[in-house]
Amino acid sequence: MEAAEVARLRGDFPLLEREVNGHGIAYLDSGATAQKPVCVIDAEQDFLTRSNAAVHRGAHTLAVEATDAYETGRATLARFVGAGEDEIVWTKNATEALNVVAYGFANASAGLGGAQAARFRLGPEDSIVVTEMEHHANLVPWQQLAQRTGAQLRWLPLTDSGRLDLTDLTGIVDSSTKVLAFTHVSNVLGTITDTAPLTARAREVGALTVLDACQSVPHMPVDLRALDVDFAAFSGHKMLGPTGVGALYGRAELLNALPPVLTGGSMITSVTMEGAEFMPAPQRFEAGTQPVAQIVGLTAAVEYLEHIGMDRVAEHEREIGARMLDGVRRIEGVRLLGPEDPAARIGAVAFDVDGVHSHDVGQYLDAAGVAVRVGHHCAQPLHRRYGVTSSTRASAAVYTDTGDVDRFLQALAEVRGFFR
Ligand code: PLP
Repeated sequence: MEAAEVARLRGDFPLLEREVNGHGIAYLDSGATAQKPVCVIDAEQDFLTRSNAAVHRGAHTLAVEATDAYETGRATLARFVGAGEDEIVWTKNATEALNVVAYGFANASAGLGGAQAARFRLGPEDSIVVTEMEHHANLVPWQQLAQRTGAQLRWLPLTDSGRLDLTDLTGIVDSSTKVLAFTHVSNVLGTITDTAPLTARAREVGALTVLDACQSVPHMPVDLRALDVDFAAFSGHKMLGPTGVGALYGRAELLNALPPVLTGGSMITSVTMEGAEFMPAPQRFEAGTQPVAQIVGLTAAVEYLEHIGMDRVAEHEREIGARMLDGVRRIEGVRLLGPEDPAARIGAVAFDVDGVHSHDVGQYLDAAGVAVRVGHHCAQPLHRRYGVTSSTRASAAVYTDTGDVDRFLQALAEVRGFFR
């Protein structure tokens, strides 16, 4: 993307005009949460100002407008990720979406959902497979499921260079495997997973696949049907949208068979004192009053990204990522985590600074107006694998420019000298 175009885009993000510690902000923490363009802020405000109402419940004009916005948002998001409209369930975030799937399996294993839920039933003879690079959101729910059902939890290990080690794929994912859950992009290493061998092996053994698409959907074109996964999860706030809204994708026939976790209003067709019948997907997973204003904001974010074009977003962030990677590798005493090849990752770079705790690194950078993420990034096993307890991560979005990267690299180059 031309520098002039990035400069114009940056003008859409009011927060980027802010000063922090006497410097204009260089926001390199988009992997944690992205900043919002003014169209997202306006869309939410406009909805709250003009059309606010609960959805699917009223006959009045505002309720019709709100329902229309809610379902238009679903159709827009479905188009964006290559899904059918009935295959997108609104959730609070990716964490909730992943839990809906894992606890759906748990409910089925406890006997809920009838005969159609049989394929989600797990017992001690079954296995669940994850990877060592998962965010805790795509690990802990599966640990819990294993504990509830007695199923065995297994994982695919990592190579020294920060990729999935598939040497023993057929041994780890075998005929006992009922679920294979893996991330599309590591939130720490930035590594992009080659999903094809994983989905192929899962199909071979009849396992269902669950994709954590939190770090891919905001940064590259994603077509979930083409990826041939059964479920996927992602969060609105990482893709220029508001907090409080995310999505679960599921193949329609699976969503219609998976027992819901949250039950109550808005997800039933009929209720007696003895029991209830549930609506088809996606409504059967949308119990209670939904975050409509946030969905309206997310819809505006998706349209904004579509307008730029996800191919161009990916290309821009790859260039920014390559600049960060190259700069970090040149700084003495800084150890890069993850692949050295910029083409193997998104624009996120995590590293360890020799002798300096990541929190100190983060504070030093903050004093220069550079915002990065520090700590274990909700991926403790991954850090353990590389012999560290924490790291510092700089991560880009479509509005990141070369000036942000250069300021980050300049401050990072000073860190070890400062703390020595
Ligand atoms: N998975 C990955 C790869 C992430 O990066 C994150 C957020 O950092 C999550 C899951 C959880 O997202 P949320 O906190 O929005 O539910």
